[in-house]
Amino acid sequence: MKYNKLRNYIGGQAIEYSGPCTDLVSPSDGTILSEVPISTANEVATAVATASAAFTEWSALIPKERAQVFYRYRALLEQHMDEIAQIVHDENGKTLPESRAEVVRAMEVTEFACSLPQLIGGEVLEVSRGVECRLERAPLGVVASICPFNFPIMVPHWTIPIALALGNSMIFKPSEHVPLSAQRVAELLTESGLPDGVFNVVHGSRDAVEALCDHPQIEAITFVGSTPTAKAVYRRATSHLKRALALGGAKNHLVVLPDADVEQTASNALASMAGCAGQRCMAAASMVGVGPIDPIIERLCQQAQAMVPGETIGPVISAAAKERIEGFIAEAETQGAKVLVDGRNVVVEGKEKGFYLGPTVIDHVHEDMRIAQEEVFGPVLCILRARDMDEAVKIENSSPYGNAAAVYTTNGGGAREFIERASAGMIGINVGVPVPLEPFGFGGWNDSKFGVGDITGKSSIEFWTQSKKITSRWPDEK
Ligand code: NAD
Repeated sequence: MKYNKLRNYIGGQAIEYSGPCTDLVSPSDGTILSEVPISTANEVATAVATASAAFTEWSALIPKERAQVFYRYRALLEQHMDEIAQIVHDENGKTLPESRAEVVRAMEVTEFACSLPQLIGGEVLEVSRGVECRLERAPLGVVASICPFNFPIMVPHWTIPIALALGNSMIFKPSEHVPLSAQRVAELLTESGLPDGVFNVVHGSRDAVEALCDHPQIEAITFVGSTPTAKAVYRRATSHLKRALALGGAKNHLVVLPDADVEQTASNALASMAGCAGQRCMAAASMVGVGPIDPIIERLCQQAQAMVPGETIGPVISAAAKERIEGFIAEAETQGAKVLVDGRNVVVEGKEKGFYLGPTVIDHVHEDMRIAQEEVFGPVLCILRARDMDEAVKIENSSPYGNAAAVYTTNGGGAREFIERASAGMIGINVGVPVPLEPFGFGGWNDSKFGVGDITGKSSIEFWTQSKKITSRWPDEK
């Protein structure tokens, strides 16, 4: 195994673990990389007790003191960029440039966490003659963050630096498919001076997640993953009266108007559908062409054919994911869709056991087909046709999801109309992956998010803190 058997990280160190484990399989070549603990409620209870003990001193620091840890941590992320990117590449399969880009995003959210002392200043007002009201923010206590496989470094950083800098202590449950980078994050936080027990990693899957939802000392939970699990976690956590925010899956539409720029639209759409092997909650899944867009499709197909699996596009996460994606393509084909670029049957020399798929472009997909409705989560772009903006909007609006949507046009009026009518939380105008960077918040609509507010940006401050309102009146000076 390339990596040592993993252990949970509790109280500032990796602790002995002798329970059940699962193999960590490399998506790139099918080899076993490590073994991952499949923790139970016992390990969760140990981590919560440790985090709870650490909370008292950590939360008593003033915000500027806590922020110092994250200045050092950001520097360590930069210093260890290549090492972390290699780990992400090994566990997730994405290319090294994609892995490095994740570390950069993690650094950006950490910078936001460093700026929190400037952002969380309270409010003071004389609300009645001689009566002052003042608002302060306090952390919640022990909180939990549960993450998916597709961004091993970026998605955990949507929560870790912000929740901790605001004074909480945390249990992080990474995806069992990408547990290696979590270990390194924990070590670097300790090296940055974070007191032991403030950040803890518990590996595992469903049992560990359910134990986190059920544990009476956990005050708040964030979840990022598929919609069925997001619903289950949101329901379970809130049934225990916890604060919860659960981000789910996606089915993002790119609407292409007839006046769209050919080169920009084609290359942008390809980057959106095939980047990170299509395993992005912001990936383009369906392109909806309004009127004639054949030159754009032609150019997109040329560029898709030029991508090289194993070099410019990594594998998908598992054999099961590859099989599921190929099943979607085969079904669409039998229903009459036309596969313009076929990414099936790809073999990467020397990595024959990897889970590779090339970019796949499918034309004449109808909105009733399963591939047009469900999340495929692979490098597959469906092309649908619409007579006009009304029909394109109807297709976009009929999706139960609502993470992102984009419009490609050189016409401001068309773009404005799409912004108003699309039912999604993040809109791109000639931008295929419209991720709102700090200080803006990340979050979708509909079945792509359950709970109030966004996971990053200003609403994260609201989520990870509670406000204390102090009303005071002093006797007149004698
Ligand atoms: P997943 O739902 O399978 O797993 C997410 C997490 O939940 C993992 O930590 C996993 O161990 C745990 N889990 C799995 N099954 C569980 C169960 N039955 N009960 C409790 N916990 C369970 O998701 P994934 O396959 O790791 O990630 C891909 C999905 O995440 C896609 O649907 C993608 O769109 C979505 N995603 C969404 C966003 C967003 O911001 N909306 C961001 C990234 C990924």
